[in-house]
Amino acid sequence: MTTLSFGSFLSRLCSRVETAFLPLVLCLFNTFGQHGRELITSEVALRLISMLTGERTMPGADLNLLNSFLDNLVIKVVPMENLNGCKLVEAGEYCERRNGRGVDLNRNWSVDWGKKEKDYDPYEENPGTGPFSEPETQIMRKLSQSFDPHVWVNVHSGMEALFMPYDHKNVTPDGLISHLMRSLLDDLNYHHCQNRCLVGSGGGSVGYLAHGTSTDYMHDIVKVPMAFTFEIYGDSSASSKDCFKMFNPVDEATFNRVIENWCAAFLMLFQTGPGWLDIARQATFNDLSKWVSIDANAVDRIEGSSKGGKLEGLDLGMQELRTYFRLFMLSSVLIMFMFCSRISKSKCRPSMSSIPI
Ligand SMILES: [Zn+2]
Repeated sequence: MTTLSFGSFLSRLCSRVETAFLPLVLCLFNTFGQHGRELITSEVALRLISMLTGERTMPGADLNLLNSFLDNLVIKVVPMENLNGCKLVEAGEYCERRNGRGVDLNRNWSVDWGKKEKDYDPYEENPGTGPFSEPETQIMRKLSQSFDPHVWVNVHSGMEALFMPYDHKNVTPDGLISHLMRSLLDDLNYHHCQNRCLVGSGGGSVGYLAHGTSTDYMHDIVKVPMAFTFEIYGDSSASSKDCFKMFNPVDEATFNRVIENWCAAFLMLFQTGPGWLDIARQATFNDLSKWVSIDANAVDRIEGSSKGGKLEGLDLGMQELRTYFRLFMLSSVLIMFMFCSRISKSKCRPSMSSIPI
């Protein structure tokens, strides 16, 4: 009760500071379908994308309000991270959570990689031959480095929970931002999980420690201010042999309810997230590195890479920036050329009115 009151207070504070301190473009990185058998997560992703692009509407959603807060956000969505694992599930291997090479993509990241608990089951948690041994994880790492998000959400199914770091130990990070993350999750739990969701650190809440996870990497290495794992559906009454039912709704009403509810939860996150982050930004004003605008961020990256910075491989964000810059320069040159040729023609050639038809 105390936490909810604190959360509500901060929500009101968010809405007040939102308009005053929102010169930033905030980046939100959301990934779905990291585990093959969790098909419902990609269904949520596709519905969310169709809503964000205006193809579909959501009952009760205020489109004007939606558009007003989307103006300040850049949202990147990976709707199905584990394509080959999903293909195995669709071919009938309903319990498969790993990728096509038998590796768990949420154990293949470098933070505390490879540590095995007593109940380690390679069929469930094979971490691969080394950190980032898998192409899917490599792609996600590059995307996270180039996009450098302020908010990360890794969406799973199998239970109802809203997790924050850490997965590899049973504590949450220290500091204000950790309290803000917890308050944001409490709000989501209240509005979209009817307080059924487990809330807290993954390692402290789920009943086991997970090593080499993407959310811990986003928090510890990419320094994403708010890094979450959402578990959006689970049927604990299902037989342990019926993996499809354990991880996915099997009737249409539940399917639609889960999708609409979690799309609404994401819209709430997109709407209130900037306010929460602004509070954190004000509180950590001496560390501006994570709070610069996306444009300044890109410039920082260009400088960083020319000095042999830590970016690896092609940076997709920089590629886009370079393309826009080249297009801008090309169009400027063309306009100048047209302008100059017009002047020179008007000087050398008689006026149009004197040319016979
Ligand atoms: Zn999962």
